Amino acid sequence: MKEKAAELAVVSNKTFAASTAVNLHHYDISSALQTTLEFDELIAIFCNKIQHTIPHNGVEYTNPEFDLEYKRGVLARHSCSYALKVEEQQLGELKLTRSQRFSKDELKLLESLLCCLIYPLRNATLFQQALKMAFTDPLTKANNRTAFNDSLLREIKRAHRSGSHLSLIFVDVDHFKSINDQYGHECGDLALASVAAWLKESVRGSDAVYRYGGEEFVILLSDTDIDGAMVIGERIRADIESHTLAYGMDVLNLTASLGVATLKGDDTFDSLLKRADAAMYQAKRQGRNRVEAGF
Ligand code: GH3
Ligand code: MG
Ligand code: MG
Repeated sequence: MKEKAAELAVVSNKTFAASTAVNLHHYDISSALQTTLEFDELIAIFCNKIQHTIPHNGVEYTNPEFDLEYKRGVLARHSCSYALKVEEQQLGELKLTRSQRFSKDELKLLESLLCCLIYPLRNATLFQQALKMAFTDPLTKANNRTAFNDSLLREIKRAHRSGSHLSLIFVDVDHFKSINDQYGHECGDLALASVAAWLKESVRGSDAVYRYGGEEFVILLSDTDIDGAMVIGERIRADIESHTLAYGMDVLNLTASLGVATLKGDDTFDSLLKRADAAMYQAKRQGRNRVEAGF
């Protein structure tokens, strides 16, 4: 049973400042919350700190902007939930549950303590937004080259350590220069953003798609061997070919050439990348709109 679904909008930090000054408990919580900029850690610290004053069994925190769903403990019958917000910035929704009702006094106390959580959550939001921007290509919203370098290094280490498969697909749009020449740079930009969206759809998870540069994308497939990667490569090729792009009165069809490579025991970052790139050039030489494997 839900006693309350409050919309808590904290619009000024006066409450926060005043309460920290007068209340040691607030001060203790606020200090602990200054130690991290990770959402799940902030929620865990906050809930641990309030456990003895507002006992609860289950915690749920969702933050759609960052695709975050944090759950802890056992969700019980009675709950109270708060949509957290400050200065028009959405900070997610926090729900506490337990088997007994929350009393009015407990809810009042919780609302006062939530003031300690609001600003650390806002700082975490700003930090995570900046982090996201640093690793995202602004035109296509795919992960950028910096993110790719980080991920590939990490995935190679992981695959070598655990003996798992790791594959990489290089995607280069065919005759892309002629799109710019014929329809203009703006149309070229739209086409690149569309290709990125189709790639994300094809691999059902945006994290794997990176813009390597220009009209070239890379897809990282962990736990995927060469046969699996070739199947995915062929699906991507067919997806790009089957889409149609409408630009004003014009209708454009695009194709791409793909090179696939799978990590070998003695592979490094450069050797794996080089094989996928060479396979992609092989696909170009074979006539484009093809998928080739690099062995
Ligand atoms: P190929 O089939 O051999 O790959 O031919 P291509 O024309 O795709 O390859 P080429 O390397 O000759 O040309 C790539 C073009 O991509 C040239 C460049 O202007 C264009 N390009 C790269 N980045 C962008 C971008 O961000 N926006 C737009 N509109 N065009 C871009
Ligand atoms: Mg190219
Ligand atoms: Mg090209």
